[in-house]
Formats: sequence, C-alpha cells, structure tokens
Amino acid sequence: MSRIEIIQGDITRQAVDAIVNAANCSLLGGGGVDGAIHRAAGPELLAECRTLHGCETGKAKITKGYRLPARYVIHTPGPIWRGGTHGEPELLASCYRSCLELAAENGCKTVDFPSISTGVYAFPLNRAAPIAIRTIGAFLEAHPEIERVRMVCFDYRTKAVYEAALGEWMKK
Ligand code: ADP
Repeated sequence: MSRIEIIQGDITRQAVDAIVNAANCSLLGGGGVDGAIHRAAGPELLAECRTLHGCETGKAKITKGYRLPARYVIHTPGPIWRGGTHGEPELLASCYRSCLELAAENGCKTVDFPSISTGVYAFPLNRAAPIAIRTIGAFLEAHPEIERVRMVCFDYRTKAVYEAALGEWMKK
C-alpha cells in the first residue's frame, strides 16, 4: 500500500502535522493557496513570516500553523515556469525534498502538499505531477518515520493528473 495519497480539497482545512504553502520568495503572502493559508491562519502567521527574511526558490522554511488545524506550515517558493530550460524541473523537485526534510526534522508524520507552481507560476501540470510524485516517493523510501503524504488538489483536473502520475510511479 502506498503512503502517498491524492485527494481533492482545501488544504487550509486539513488537520495534519504540516501543510505546505506554495509561497513566493518574500514569504509575505500572495494570491492563490498562499492567500488562502494566510487568511485561515490569521495575522500571527504573517508576523512570524516577517521574521524569516524571505526564502529562495526551491528551499523551504517552517512556521507554526496558528488558527489552522495543521500544526505547522512549511513555506516553499516554487519556480516560475520560463519554458523549462531554466532549471525549473530541478527546482520543483528541490521544493518537495526541502519541505519533507523540514517535516522530518520537526517530527511530522503527516504532510499535505498543494500542487506547487502549477497555478499562477504556470508550471505545466502534466510535467509537474510526475516530478512531485517521484520526489515524494524517493523521500518516503528513505524515511519510514513519515507515515503519509497527500497531494491536496483544489480541482478535479489537478487530482486526475496526480492520480495518473501516482499510478505510473507505482508500476515501477
Ligand atoms: P503557484 O504560484 O505556486 O503556481 P498557486 O496558488 O497559484 O501557486 O496555485 C497552486 C495550486 O494551488 C493550484 O493548483 C491552485 O488551484 C491550488 N490552490 C488554490 N487554493 C487552494 C487551496 N485552498 N487548497 C489547495 N489548493 C489550492
């Protein structure tokens, strides 16, 4: 049985150890999932984010979850798609890996991700999904202490693409 699951839902409503925020490098909030997480967590989240002095693309930083049901928020700026020849695939993989490293260091057993970079940052979904699944899968093989990682997809199409990518990965 796989420790990777795909669900459709709103990541701000998930009661897990950590949710991931598809942030921008300022870590001071934005649109999309970032805006939704800040609205649901309350102003204390922005106050803690101000102390972090931003984050590089592909890296990650952790905060508390405040009014969210999740204990922690792990913030990672995904790459902006610029045609695929500017290191975008490697940076996207680095986002998933960096978040899971922080989750493991902080004792998180359940982690939920949104579909990083495939919204405003325009990373093609059919290329992003296999990168996400492969990177999560490889990390879980090396880290049995993490019990479950979910992709929380906001819409049906995104969920279908991640389910297909998970199906392909499990054949290997
Ligand atoms: P990026 O700038 O990294 O592309 P976006 O927030 O624009 O980030 O989009 C990333 C993904 O998050 C998209 O698939 C979008 O539909 C999804 N999303 C938006 N709001 C939520 C939410 N509340 N829960 C889960 N996913 C969400």
